[in-house]
Amino acid sequence: MREAIRLANESVERGGGPFGAVIVKDGEIVAGSSNSVTIDNDPTAHAEVNTIRKACQKLRTFDLSGCTIYTSCEPCPMCLGAIYWARIGKIFYGNTRKDARDIDFADDFIYEELELPLEKRTVPIKPLLRDEALKTFRLWTEKTDKIEY
Ligand SMILES: [Zn+2]
Repeated sequence: MREAIRLANESVERGGGPFGAVIVKDGEIVAGSSNSVTIDNDPTAHAEVNTIRKACQKLRTFDLSGCTIYTSCEPCPMCLGAIYWARIGKIFYGNTRKDARDIDFADDFIYEELELPLEKRTVPIKPLLRDEALKTFRLWTEKTDKIEY
């Protein structure tokens, strides 16, 4: 966690967001990174996502089972989703999402949005062309040589 916080501090000095993360496997740091949203013009470049990408490249896998992530702030919903998709087994965090809200980051707002029914969310979300889209799922289901994840 101290390395995640160190990366967050370094990020602030470099012009990135105040967030850092580290992924550990078998007691060793596999990868560490910080937020680079403004540096890379990439709204998905949160510390956790950047660190997951690095760890997956280093370990040459999309499955981080057996890994633990240390993040300087409670993950936002996007990063929490990425952590679940990567099958990371345990999460430690420093600041809470309320702490992030107090310095004007939207983590807590997005969590609140997720609890609202679709028709009450800030960003309109509507179903469209489901019948056509479902054909792709049938293709996937019928494919015998796919890499499942
Ligand atoms: Zn995030």
